This record gives sequence, C-alpha cells and structure tokens, in this order.
Amino acid sequence: MQDLFAQQLKALRAAALDRHLFEISSPQGPEITVVGRDRRARRLINFSSNDYLGLANDSRLREAAIAAINEFGVGAGASRLISGTQLQHVRLERALTKWKGTEAALCFSSGYAAALGTIPALVTKNDVVLLDKLCHASLIDAAKLGGARLRIFPHNNLRKLESHLQWARREHTGKRVLIITESVFSMDGDRAPLRDLVQLKEQFDALLMLDEAHAVGVIGPHGRGLATEDGVSDNIDVQMGTLSKALGTSGGYICGSRSLIEWLINRARSFIYSTAPPPAIAASAVAAVDFLASSDGEQRRLQLWEKIRLMHQLLPEDRSNRKSSAVGSAIFPWIVGDEQAALDLAAALNSEGFVVPAIRYPTVPKGSARLRITITAAHQEDQIEALCHAMRRNSASD
Ligand SMILES: *Cc1c(COP(=O)(O)O)cnc(C)c1O
Repeated sequence: MQDLFAQQLKALRAAALDRHLFEISSPQGPEITVVGRDRRARRLINFSSNDYLGLANDSRLREAAIAAINEFGVGAGASRLISGTQLQHVRLERALTKWKGTEAALCFSSGYAAALGTIPALVTKNDVVLLDKLCHASLIDAAKLGGARLRIFPHNNLRKLESHLQWARREHTGKRVLIITESVFSMDGDRAPLRDLVQLKEQFDALLMLDEAHAVGVIGPHGRGLATEDGVSDNIDVQMGTLSKALGTSGGYICGSRSLIEWLINRARSFIYSTAPPPAIAASAVAAVDFLASSDGEQRRLQLWEKIRLMHQLLPEDRSNRKSSAVGSAIFPWIVGDEQAALDLAAALNSEGFVVPAIRYPTVPKGSARLRITITAAHQEDQIEALCHAMRRNSASD
C-alpha cells in the first residue's frame, strides 16, 4: 500500500511548507532551553512567544493555580451546565466583567473554542458575515462553520467594507450582519481602524465582533484593549479575547451584554459540549486579571512599551517599509517573501542563539513569508540589541 501521508509530506517539504515540533525543557520566558535532535540542550533567547507581560511563569499565577489545585483538584468533571460552575469560573467571569467594563463575561477553554462556539451562535445561514482578510484562523473557521453568507473585505479597507454593507442591506434585507475583525492582527502587528468601524457598523445597523487576542494586556489603560483605548468599548457587541497570551495562562473569553452571554450559554457548542476549563487555570487567570488591574500591572505594561519602542528603533528595515508606520503592538513582522528564505533566516538566527519563528502559508499568504518577532516586558535591552545586530548581519547578505 502506498503511504499517502508520506507523499503529501514530501510535497509540503518540496514547497518549503513543512512544519516540525521542537522540544523545550524549560518554562516559557525570554530565555528557553531547546533540546536538539541530538538531545543536546541549548539556552536560546526567545522572540517567539505571546507571553507579552512575562506572566506565563509568574509566581502570582503559579501560587493561585497551586492553591486551587490543593482545594479543588485538577479536573472540572464535565461541562458547566452538567456538573456545575466552580467558584473559580464565577470569580474569573466576575473579574473579566469588571476589568473589561461590560455587563457579563463567559470563559471558554481556549480562544479558538471561544470563536468556534460564538460565531455560529450569532448568525444562521440566512445572515451575513463580513470578515477582514487577515483575520485569525479561529475566526475564519468559525465563520465558515456558522454557514452564514461570508464576504471577506481587504485588510482594514473601510471603503470595501462599506460597499459590502450596502450589498448586504440591499440583497439581504432584514437579515443580521456581523462584522468581525481584530484589534491587533496576529501576523502583522497592525491595528484595526476601530472608531471608523464602529461608525460604519452603526450606520448600517450591523453587529461588531472584535478579537482582542493580541491587544489585551498590551493596549489601553491597564491593558483593557483597543476598544477601551479608543473609547468605543460600549459600542462593540461582542468582545473576544484570550487568556493564553499577555495573561500568561490558558483559555478564551467573550465579554458583552448579559443577554449575549445567556444566549451563548444556550447556544455556543464549544461551551456546552466541552468540559469546563480546569479550576486551577481559571484561578491563575483571575490572578492575571487582578495583576493587570493593579498599579504593578500597569507598570509592567509600560515596561513592555519601552521595549517595543526600543525594538522599533533598532530593527533594520525589511521589504515592507515598516519604519514609516506607527508601532502598534508587540508584534514585529519581518517580511522575507520566499518560504525557503524565511526558513533559512530563522535557522541562521537559531544558530546564533535566537528563537524567531518563520511564518509561512497558510498562516500568511503565499510569497509573504516572514519572521514574526514578539517582544515581551521580560526581555532585557541587550537581548533586543543582540537580536537586531544579528538581523542586520543576516539580512545584509541577501
Ligand atoms: C491566538 C489567537 C486566538 C486563539 O486563542 P487561543 O487561546 O490560543 O486558542 C484567537 N484569535 C487570535 C487573533 C489569536 O491570535
């Protein structure tokens, strides 16, 4: 029998699109211990994680999780509708509600699960979804799963979005129209023009869902996200976020009106048919939200921005003339173009002691392969300087 999967993998390799796991034997942090194929361990400087505030291994989060394990054990038992909502879930949703300033919140076991459960609960096949072209896979998958008429608008293109809205109102009179976008785009690091989007959604009486995955903890007072920074939090119907990035732990959430959350409890299948997040994870997320809401948390966020600005100053120019644009997040794409060239550059940096992932199709369009560098508050200035020197040396040769 032919090995079909081996053939498929060979084709992936030929296109420089194959992916491989690598093992690490340390906690996440600005330095990680990478175990090579020869089992040799190397300490590398890590520019790959979304742990923007350095909370993934923070003692406050660890202690909260340990205390919850001691009191509540490890497993949640079943979904919350079946075996009950534990104290930690109640606390987490209360903390999220207060921090985000919405009426209610609902937590999921991941951001992916939040998207997958929520979007199909909001629209049916007669409705319309308008999605930014650079939206995350979880939003695309969820929009497809929902079965609504799906139109993609070019990235941050308000004129095109407006013409889609006109089309939706003309051709699908009386139907629900849901606009979906992100605050900070995960592979490009730029922001959505949120105030203009809110204005359009109100003009056309559409709903707006905003994924704040890379904005919470990073943008806005106490890291409340772009909606708060732009002063439009009350105008956004569905605020999604993850607990797995700047908040350092794991899980996803939806914040919004009380009726929205009640509806999701009744209709979000990834919530209803999946075991609740472990109580210890919810407890660590409460500790993360409490930290962000504190003055120490705000201090940490401002430290992150000092590092981001340093990176913006030092990083050499790539092919996209990034320098001309304002720095909007902790994500720095370094566009290479060719898939193999991106892999080669990542490998060269690895041999010099840095973990910087090469991002290729289908995560980004073909021919726009890139390095994706992420900065955290836990990086030292000299680590950022060293990376930028290495980038300069390695990119001068191409
Ligand atoms: C990471 C990410 C998610 C998924 O969140 P997880 O908690 O990792 O499942 C959703 N949306 C965006 C934009 C993301 O970057």
